[in-house]
Amino acid sequence: MPGDPQADCLFCKIAAGQIPATIVRETQTTVAFRDINPQAPTHILVIPKAHYTNAAELATAEPAIAADVLREAGEIAAEEKLDSYRIVFNTGAGVGQTVFHAHAHLMGGRGMTWPPG
Ligand code: 5GP
Ligand code: ZN
Repeated sequence: MPGDPQADCLFCKIAAGQIPATIVRETQTTVAFRDINPQAPTHILVIPKAHYTNAAELATAEPAIAADVLREAGEIAAEEKLDSYRIVFNTGAGVGQTVFHAHAHLMGGRGMTWPPG
């Protein structure tokens, strides 16, 4: 079924507690944890517990959960006292997506340039 856990998915395993992560917040539908290789002083991943390959697929299938991911990112940014931050959804290997389970990168705590490289 769409959204069901995938046996070979790293983030499904983190969502299920089968692989340890530094969990920041958890809701019924989402988990947020610190990126293992942070690219900014605050670098947190917010994922749906349900497995979808990318953010657009999540939003098509489960728009309320996509909204949960965004709301969590914003609330965590406030908790981390970030007044400026970036939320990134890498979509496709060509722009650096390496884990094919939808996830928001919440990044802040340093200046960033625009456009990104
Ligand atoms: P992507 O490149 O797919 O947009 O982002 C995947 C992110 O997951 C990367 O920033 C990477 O550092 C992070 N990551 C990969 N494996 C693990 C892990 O086992 N634990 C945590 N906490 N983050 C991971
Ligand atoms: Zn997954």
